[in-house]
Amino acid sequence: MKHYVLFLAFTICITSCNKKQTFIYSSPNFEIVKLVEGVYGCIHKFGGKAICNVGIIDNGKETLIFDSFLSPSAAEELKEVVAKLGLSPIKYVVNSHFHNDHIRGNQVFSPEVKIISTSRTAELIKEWEPIDIEEEKAYAPQRFMHFDSLYNTYKGDTNAREYQQILMWRPYYETLAESYKDIKTRIPDLFVNNQQFFNGPARRVQIISKGKGHTESDLILYLPDDQILFTGDLVFNACHPYLGDGYIADWKEYLNFLESLNITTVVPGHGQLGSKNSINVMREYILTIENLANEMHRQGQKLEDAERIEIPDPYKDWWFDSFFLSNLKFTYSNIEEK
Ligand SMILES: [Zn+2]
Repeated sequence: MKHYVLFLAFTICITSCNKKQTFIYSSPNFEIVKLVEGVYGCIHKFGGKAICNVGIIDNGKETLIFDSFLSPSAAEELKEVVAKLGLSPIKYVVNSHFHNDHIRGNQVFSPEVKIISTSRTAELIKEWEPIDIEEEKAYAPQRFMHFDSLYNTYKGDTNAREYQQILMWRPYYETLAESYKDIKTRIPDLFVNNQQFFNGPARRVQIISKGKGHTESDLILYLPDDQILFTGDLVFNACHPYLGDGYIADWKEYLNFLESLNITTVVPGHGQLGSKNSINVMREYILTIENLANEMHRQGQKLEDAERIEIPDPYKDWWFDSFFLSNLKFTYSNIEEK
């Protein structure tokens, strides 16, 4: 059964963003929210194989897709849905950074569709994808079996956090376990290393890179006329971000820059739609981790001591909580190296 038969038509108001937003599509992988005419946010669902959020932006003559999901099958579904929305033809797919959950849908788009990234991100994809895919072939099947057995034997409340975490990780590892068979890495072929407009009659579309942040090279997509920002993984909403490939000082600078933009709606890399305040919350999280790591260092604690530190209150309910410890250890190790 094709997912698009599930087309829904109901309207809700998301209070954090003052505008009325319409859910126009929902499937096990993702749901699509219309932000304004011609601009949509695709929000990943726990239990699905999209894993990251994606943007759809029609400038009135061509459509850009911002990030392309982990699973080619989810990207294929996205392509089918976009075809039914009656938008301008897809001309560009943007990769915000090199992480696999943002790039592996690239391969479903025709060769005429240009893949945009920074030139460094293209190099990182070329360098890391063969290594990652080989490693996934070795470790992902066992992790999938672990979460699959938890899923099959779970007897508790299906609304419980524990079950939601199982729902989230199971398809992630299932997709990675298949990656060596499914992935034909498509490397970006059009580069934006500073900023470039992709304007059309309907709106201005600005792609900007300030370099290092969540990774060695990140870019964002900004719609100045609509006050909408697609951040990639520079911003997670109510999820612990992954700091392990990050450059903390640059990341904070990047967030300062994002905050200087005129924004009403933020589409984060992971988690639900946010507002301008989501940028500030992300910076606060990074500062909190830094403070904890500095405190450990001042007290002469060792790396293992991080395991005794509890997740601070504001972040206790955030998803991806296993990232907290790795983020703290990563930040502490950075201080040690200085
Ligand atoms: Zn990432």
